[in-house]
Order: sequence, then C-alpha cells, then structure tokens
Amino acid sequence: MASYRRAGNLPGEPRIICVTKTQPLERIAEAVEAGVTEIGENYVQEAIRKDVFSLRQGRDLTVHYIGRMQSNKYNTMLHLFDAIDSSDENLLKHACARSLAVPVHTHEFLLEINAGEEPQKAGLTLARVQELAAERWEGFAAISGFMTVVPLQASTNMRAALYDDVRALMRELVEKHGYSQLRELSMGTSDDFELALEHGATMIRVGTAIFGARGTDCL
Ligand SMILES: *Cc1c(COP(=O)(O)O)cnc(C)c1O
Repeated sequence: MASYRRAGNLPGEPRIICVTKTQPLERIAEAVEAGVTEIGENYVQEAIRKDVFSLRQGRDLTVHYIGRMQSNKYNTMLHLFDAIDSSDENLLKHACARSLAVPVHTHEFLLEINAGEEPQKAGLTLARVQELAAERWEGFAAISGFMTVVPLQASTNMRAALYDDVRALMRELVEKHGYSQLRELSMGTSDDFELALEHGATMIRVGTAIFGARGTDCL
C-alpha cells in the first residue's frame, strides 16, 4: 500500500484485520480462501454461533476480538480468541491471573484507547494510560500495542491528530518507560485506513470495503 510505504517508519507490511461481524460463515470462508489471514469479530455469541473458529482448521488464521468487554465472558474469550484487541484494564488483570492457573489460548492483547474521549465509547483515555505508566502498571507487559476507534464524525485533520496522539503515546511508553515490546497500532477502518497508515497504523480493521455494506439480519 503506497500510503504505508510513504510513512516509512516501520518494517513489514500492515496487518489487515477483515471485520466479519454480521457476515455469514460462507462469506467469511470465501474471504479466507481468497487470502485473508486475520479476521475480527465484535460479539462473542455471534462468533460462537457462526463458529468462525472452525475456519482455523488446517490454516494460518488469526481470530481477533474487537468488541465490547463483557466480564461474564472473559474466560470464554480467553479460550477461543487468538487476539483480544479491545482489552481494558479488567480483562488484562483477569487474563494475567488466569494464565497463572491454566493455559490461556489468547496470545496477543492490545489495549483499547478512547482517543476522542467519547463518553459512550469503550477504551482508556490517553491521560489514564499515562497515569498507569507512572504507576508502572503490570498490564503493559502483557500487551503488544493499542487499538483505537476515532469519532465517526471527526474531520480528516482531527482523525490524523488523534492517530498521532496514540502513536506518540506508544512511543513514550517505549522510550520513557521501557516497554520495548509495544509495536502494534490498530487504527483505521474502511473509511480512513489510508490516513491511519500514514499516521502509524500497523493494523487496519476493514469490513465494508471488503464485503460491501452490512445487512442487519445476522445481528
Ligand atoms: C465494524 C468495525 C470495524 C469495521 O468498520 P468498516 O467501516 O466496516 O470497515 C472496525 N473496527 C471496529 C471496532 C468495528 O466495530
């Protein structure tokens, strides 16, 4: 992707997470056959009902959870998903404790950042992350980066500024606090992935640009 190469600050190609919410299993299977290697689901029950996990059989496919945290489903999530990109403080605390007792399937965690500080949205504010860094919160050791969802109505300039903020925050954690394993930034969707890549995204989450507009019949 040209815009990613222009940014030129990270090695390798960006990871494309194909967002499969509301899509039936057959369409997801087609995408996987066509070369998709990472998919993202928003609802635990929907992912189980469709059995997207069966698509991993004999294939190199990573299944991400990118939806809301539900504390009554933590153990199910940790048992089924390869990656949890929308983690919060509680989930990470639970995952750390559980992994001491039993093997946990999930092997990649991102912390969700509410960069636009929208009250209805999940994720930690930038200020909260800085506070946790000052306290040397142990959860940072378990994550490989951040995911952020910017406000739907935000202008291009505003989105760019928020993506820059999240990238700067990760840099600060690496350089000032020594969390050198932090490298992933999941930023950008069908609407703005080119912009996100120019501003440091290493993962993009793309649904409608791959499948077309979502119906609601599968929700
Ligand atoms: C649905 C969703 C996407 C994909 O959005 P598109 O506009 O279909 O590309 C990305 N990220 C999250 C968190 C989502 O819920």
